[in-house]
Amino acid sequence: MTPLARILLARIDATGPITLAEFMAECLLHPEHGYYTGETVFGRQGDFTTAPEISQMFGELLGLALAQCWLDQGAPQGATLAEAGPGRGTLMADMLRAQGKVPGLPGALSPHLIEASPRLREVQRAALAGQPSRWLERVDDLPEAPLFFVANEFIDALPIRQFRREGAGWSECMVRRAGEGLGLAFTPPEPRPELAHRLADTAPGSIVEFRPALPALIAALAGRVSRHGGVALLIDYGDWRSRGDTFQALRDHTPCDPLATPGTADLTAHVDFEAIARLATRAGAVVTAMVPQGTFLEHLGITQRAQSLARVMPDNAALENHIAAHRRLTHPQEMGSLFKVIAFHPRGSTPPPGFEP
Ligand code: SAH
Repeated sequence: MTPLARILLARIDATGPITLAEFMAECLLHPEHGYYTGETVFGRQGDFTTAPEISQMFGELLGLALAQCWLDQGAPQGATLAEAGPGRGTLMADMLRAQGKVPGLPGALSPHLIEASPRLREVQRAALAGQPSRWLERVDDLPEAPLFFVANEFIDALPIRQFRREGAGWSECMVRRAGEGLGLAFTPPEPRPELAHRLADTAPGSIVEFRPALPALIAALAGRVSRHGGVALLIDYGDWRSRGDTFQALRDHTPCDPLATPGTADLTAHVDFEAIARLATRAGAVVTAMVPQGTFLEHLGITQRAQSLARVMPDNAALENHIAAHRRLTHPQEMGSLFKVIAFHPRGSTPPPGFEP
């Protein structure tokens, strides 16, 4: 049993079953035993590999897409470049390197990283050595200024609650004690006004998931973008109105039981892009179509960038890696269609590049 399992069992014994969201928050960010806050290896050798860790092309293209938005919106001074959940800091480092070549941009956009894990902040500080950057605890702490924002695989790590439809009501999946360990059980059904719109696309027995932190997150981002200008680019795995049980734990690149060893595996769930679009629209922003990552990167010119990098690869092994990385990021059977991209921008502004049909 992990130390965190003991802590969670004690809490459940004292105050009753907890929601999946409470469970996920403790597993990922418990100050001592959380997956992101503890000692677990993270990154290429860790439990999963993210797009920026696969190739520098990912961060370069996103950095230049944000730069294009900045130019299209009149190159505002005193603007913010921000990333939430920056992991090892690779995406931000690649974005800054690419943006460094855009005349006038480096002094105008000040980099901000939103990171909850003190340990990962240190990793990011090392990756950005020499770049003046600020770290924030929450998106709400971002300056009231034009905001050029990106997040890759951040929303999937935000805790979910999970509900099963029973008639016109919903029962909730809870984590409780099961013998010596942890188990799952559903509550008796009740009406859930916040899930009323899901009665249309589900049947009894259907599972839907809900992220309690999403409304405040999208309101903070879309509010700033609408009031001051900028753009928010969100990349994650999921779908429009994602459905079903998508809660998963990964250790060593392999799915594992999320309840067995809390704190030692990465926990995620699919992102519902419709929820993002609805919340951003409500906050006054214009929302793009949701497009597959492969299509988005092709539109931004990944093939041309891949060809020019191929010419400077030091040897055949590096070239083969590079070709495999391009394929991994874009091919429909790899990350190309499981991952989606959506963006929002102010009313009346030029839409960001990459989303054209
Ligand atoms: N974007 C990175 C890593 C994604 S992993 C990449 O593409 O490689 C998720 C990241 O979000 C980690 O840095 C984790 O510490 C951070 N994180 C998770 N929950 C958070 C929260 N509630 N607030 C801020 N950061 C969070």
